[in-house]
Amino acid sequence: MRLAGRTSDLDSPLLFTFAQEARRLAERGVDLVSMEQGQLNFPTPPNVLAAVRRFLDDGQVLYTNVDGITELKDAIRAKFAEENGLHYAADEVFVGSGTSQILFNAFAVSLEPGDEVIVPTPAWTVFELGIVANGGTLVPLPTEQRQGFKMTPEQLDRTITGRTRWLVLNSPSNPTGAVYSAVELRALAAVLRRHPQVSVISDDLYEHQVYDGVRFVNLLNVAPDLRDRVLVVNGVAKTYGMTGWRIGYCAAPAAFLEAMKWYQAPATARPSHVGQIAAIEALTGPRDFLSDRRAQLQRRRDILVDGLNGIAGWSAAPSGGAFYVYAGCHGLIGATTRTGHQLRDDVDVARYLLSEAQVIAVPGTAFRLSPFVRFSFGAAEERIVEGVRRIAAATAGLHRKVA
Ligand code: PMP
Repeated sequence: MRLAGRTSDLDSPLLFTFAQEARRLAERGVDLVSMEQGQLNFPTPPNVLAAVRRFLDDGQVLYTNVDGITELKDAIRAKFAEENGLHYAADEVFVGSGTSQILFNAFAVSLEPGDEVIVPTPAWTVFELGIVANGGTLVPLPTEQRQGFKMTPEQLDRTITGRTRWLVLNSPSNPTGAVYSAVELRALAAVLRRHPQVSVISDDLYEHQVYDGVRFVNLLNVAPDLRDRVLVVNGVAKTYGMTGWRIGYCAAPAAFLEAMKWYQAPATARPSHVGQIAAIEALTGPRDFLSDRRAQLQRRRDILVDGLNGIAGWSAAPSGGAFYVYAGCHGLIGATTRTGHQLRDDVDVARYLLSEAQVIAVPGTAFRLSPFVRFSFGAAEERIVEGVRRIAAATAGLHRKVA
């Protein structure tokens, strides 16, 4: 079958290469420490499972509205109002088959060929894939470890052109865990006000994974005047540990969502009915367990960060949010393995960890900043401890030039 020309640039992204390799090895029974997944080990909350069981007993699993069941949209509106202080009308919220689909759909309805999308990097690979697949031009805005992987207002101002259509703001960030403060967001908003052609995708998927007493802030909390220019994107995947239920949602001006609806209809028809029932219960049920999960995650983060910093060649700063540590491996580049193989970049380092230590993590090359490795701490605490132990042993097995 002939492929369209626009698929010629599509390559298996490193992010997925490592995830697939992990699955393959796990199926073969290899004792992996899985630190590559954007996924928590917490099970779906029991009240959600109970609600789904009740729903299944009735046996009516059917098509729903294209943009989501009204009851779910009401739950989403209540969530935005209560948790984020953002108020939306019924036609200003929208449900899709995961946040991934919401993002893809938003790019599909908005990008003309050559339209630019600014993505501060390191960034989650899938933003780039959605932009390119829909004819847009990715404009990476490089940030560095010493600036906490956060863009400055000056950098943003310099990067915006007449063709800029979107800025992607992902705080807390996958892969760095960077969290923008209210003060920082206010400064970015001042830049955005000078460039009315730029809209913002605010991907808030990790809003509940923030540490050290920090509070999550959405851009619209400090700049409500930008309301018509911000697409607020969220989902149940990370907050509730419900990645497999495939429900994401967003809020935006009604006319934009109307267009997204008619792109969604031929793509997925409508989101899964079962997934939506689960999401209603997740959003309306108890949320008190979230603070306990947050405390557990902060402990895992500290074990990982302290562990890595205790191994020569690695450097990690505590992530403010999400459940990733973006660790520098500058000290390992140029080192040689026992078999005489030289580690040239972070892809080599990640491959070495996999083959030598059966620890799987994603090289920074996948997120556009090297030499780093992204470690997830979504796995159970004892697996993180075991991962650190194995990374230390594998690193000790390298021959390094003495600086
Ligand atoms: N946005 C970000 C920043 C993510 O990290 C992910 C998942 N890794 C998604 C969106 C996609 O989430 P979903 O499972 O809801 O499609």
